[in-house]
Amino acid sequence: MIDRELLEILACPLCKETVTQPDEATLECVKCGRRYPVREGIPVMLVEEAALPGDAKKNRNK
Ligand SMILES: [Zn+2]
Repeated sequence: MIDRELLEILACPLCKETVTQPDEATLECVKCGRRYPVREGIPVMLVEEAALPGDAKKNRNK
């Protein structure tokens, strides 16, 4: 898992909002819902790497 302090300084490059970590390989923006991959423990905070909300595996209960 990503260090909590690191998670706190990470932000969505689009919205500058905080991200949460719904699972070990994903960071999700609290605002736009884009999901950024975590590769080998390193967050990839790139818009072109992000999955848009509504893509496969998105939890639709929210
Ligand atoms: Zn965002």
